[in-house]
Amino acid sequence: MGSVFDRKDWGVGDAEWDDWHWQLRESWRTAQRVMDALGLRADSEVCRRYPMQATPYYLSLAQSLGVMDPILRQCVASEEELHGGMPDPFGEEAYSPVPRLVHRYPDRALFMTTSRCATHCRHCMRKRNWQCFDGKPSEDVLVAAVDYVSKHREIREILISGGDPLTLDDDDIAHVLKAFATVDHLEMLRIGSRVPVVMPQRLTDSLCEILGGCGKTVWLAAHFNHPAELSEESRLAVERLLRHGVPVVNQSVLLKGVNDDAETLRLLFTGLLKMKVKPYYLFHGDPIEGTMHFRTGVERGLELMAALRNRVSGMAMPAFSFDLPESGGKIRLEPGCELEKAGDGFAFTSFEGRRIIYR
Ligand SMILES: *Cc1c(COP(=O)(O)O)cnc(C)c1O
Repeated sequence: MGSVFDRKDWGVGDAEWDDWHWQLRESWRTAQRVMDALGLRADSEVCRRYPMQATPYYLSLAQSLGVMDPILRQCVASEEELHGGMPDPFGEEAYSPVPRLVHRYPDRALFMTTSRCATHCRHCMRKRNWQCFDGKPSEDVLVAAVDYVSKHREIREILISGGDPLTLDDDDIAHVLKAFATVDHLEMLRIGSRVPVVMPQRLTDSLCEILGGCGKTVWLAAHFNHPAELSEESRLAVERLLRHGVPVVNQSVLLKGVNDDAETLRLLFTGLLKMKVKPYYLFHGDPIEGTMHFRTGVERGLELMAALRNRVSGMAMPAFSFDLPESGGKIRLEPGCELEKAGDGFAFTSFEGRRIIYR
């Protein structure tokens, strides 16, 4: 199938195309190109509130010029984003002891390295941070986070998240990893990044060497949502990570109009395994401001998981999961499980034993 945004349209050679700095620089101008093609205005309410950004590489994966193309639906602004939802429904801010650090579960904490990304996902779970884009953490912020982790011996693992931590330069990434690697009781670091999907050029040998050689075990959690994203470039990027000893898992989000049918999910999960990526989570959409139109309902998610169960390898099956409100933490549901109806939602028991209603 041909692409609607062919890489030839950019008029650059392989040297630029394969240079992640070029991809990242071009990601803002590229958004304008898509807006022009689809008749969207940069000064529309939705684009002002939630600006568009997409790498040329990611756009080149689109196969049709329409807002329902699975690639474009994930990166093109829609009026639907102006309705409903909450900025921080699971209360991450309430569990932040020092800036940028979230310590919600006993043995692991999350560090938001930057709020910048290479492509703005329209379904972003941290859309609240789009108003104030911060780059790399200041030395004070990093020191305070490492200090907190040093004093909490129960923390085994740090999730290096964002935004996308891998949009930072090699030196800055190395600096953050090394800072956490000095904490003896930490066993591993987990990097959450969409770079393998939207800018695989970023995963150079030198970056993979930094990740694999920082002194702690490093895992990478990627974010593939559709089989059209499983390109040769991505496959090679995963190979480079594996070659440097960094295992890769994937967290997908169930997105209405993108991947909410069993055959698409089957191709996604089995395709991931084929490129040596283990499907880890399939998340139901959180009730986040600006993303409500992507939600399918929990029952639909369970139905899709049930359609795949035992029909594909158990290795291909992620855990179907979502975050409870009231800082209840994650829930995972087995296909075929009984849901307890409660008013217009469902009742769940959190890992701490609280009964919480999910809508
Ligand atoms: C999801 C999440 C984690 C990691 O949970 P896992 O189940 O280990 O993937 C850690 N901290 C926060 C705040 C999270 O939301």
